Amino acid sequence: MPGDSLKTYRAKRNFEVTSEPAEGGESNEDQPVFVIQKHWASRLHYDLRLELDGTMKSWAVPKGPSYDPHDKRMAVQVEDHPIAYNQFEGEIPKGEYGAGKVIIWDEGTWTPLEDPRKGYRDGMLKFEMHGRKMLGKWALIRIKSRGSEKQPPWLLIKEKDAYTKPASEFSVVDELPDSVVPLRDAAKKSGAKAAAKKAAPKKAAKATEPTKSAKPAPSAKTAKSKSEAAGAAEASTGNTTRQRASTAGLPGQAAELPAALKPQLATLVEGVPGNPKDWLFEIKYDGYRLLARIEGKEVKLFTRNGHDWTHKLTHLAKVLQKLKLKSGWLDGEIVVVDDKGVPNFQLLQNAFDSSRTGSIVFYLFDAPFLNGRDLRQEPLETRRESLRGLFEAGAPDELRFSETFDARPQDLVASACRMGLEGVIGKLKSSPYVTRRADSWVKLKCSQRQEFVIGGYTDPKGGRVHAV
Ligand code: MN
Repeated sequence: MPGDSLKTYRAKRNFEVTSEPAEGGESNEDQPVFVIQKHWASRLHYDLRLELDGTMKSWAVPKGPSYDPHDKRMAVQVEDHPIAYNQFEGEIPKGEYGAGKVIIWDEGTWTPLEDPRKGYRDGMLKFEMHGRKMLGKWALIRIKSRGSEKQPPWLLIKEKDAYTKPASEFSVVDELPDSVVPLRDAAKKSGAKAAAKKAAPKKAAKATEPTKSAKPAPSAKTAKSKSEAAGAAEASTGNTTRQRASTAGLPGQAAELPAALKPQLATLVEGVPGNPKDWLFEIKYDGYRLLARIEGKEVKLFTRNGHDWTHKLTHLAKVLQKLKLKSGWLDGEIVVVDDKGVPNFQLLQNAFDSSRTGSIVFYLFDAPFLNGRDLRQEPLETRRESLRGLFEAGAPDELRFSETFDARPQDLVASACRMGLEGVIGKLKSSPYVTRRADSWVKLKCSQRQEFVIGGYTDPKGGRVHAV
């Protein structure tokens, strides 16, 4: 019985001190859920929890999961947790059991591939995961215990399927390090917007919120406010006049233009997390990332590492002056387009080598700052609208607005690859601009494998690739 199975869990904790739940949470009998919590206890580890018979069966995985079937990740079985624990994010106080920070690193549903009760008892669980980061087939296999039977050791192993990736190419814990809670909030917001326009497909909405029946955690805001705080800290650098807009209609906040800006970087993924409708898709240009800082007539061009390339690209600086912006930081990629219209990195190299840089065009895709305002906390869609506004009166040919494509991501990647492009960039429509690598911008690259794998719970009419 669940009550009994939580005895150990409760005995280890003092619920007057810790904000972890003592019990509770609704069970999801037709579609059991999973959660992986990243836990900075005395040692960082990942707590994998699978719902079974009204509780969360739990394993502490020191290194976290790997998409490489050769990696056998130690997973130490720990005490059952209540289902309500799935919503826990926050800080376990010093002196308490498991003291340290906890984030919800991934969540979703899981499907046992064999009888899960027998599998759990016999030490051989095979299942499919439908999360944001955890997709495809996985196995948990119990190994011989050397000493204490209280915490039997298991191994977490990726089973071969279309999601498999060599460890040398992809480390899911390194590339997708953050909490999924802000993504969940973002999906809800944009989902609500879409629902206002037309009824959102129920299946997709349900799938992106696999644990929505559970009560929101009291600390679920932690991650969001943390990232907002980080953004605010960046925004306030060298700026004391930050204030809310008093004039209606202008997005963002009044702000001084920072002297330097680190660009947001995309994370390489196998499929778009969540609902593809929440994402915008652009071509992945085969060029150099470039940021333009404009302050009146002064235009400076920086690489993504902050090197000043203005002297190498004087013609582009002049062209940007013609936009007559008061100020701004514009983000984009410079490319040379070959005769097929495909951005070509070799041509770009040649253009630099021969110092004839005249044929370089600058595809602009974001405007973190524009005309005295800091737009970074605005949704991507708002920033892009502001950027598009610059092109409405007609812009010089060397400046291009990076268009987005409205098609299923797997089709886009397939066409991009056929055209000789590198792949596709997906960006979460509702996401703020952050000056680091983040999960809200993803790279979908052409791979040698022809079939393109799209994340677990998308268009039920064929968008989903079942692992064979
Ligand atoms: Mn833990």
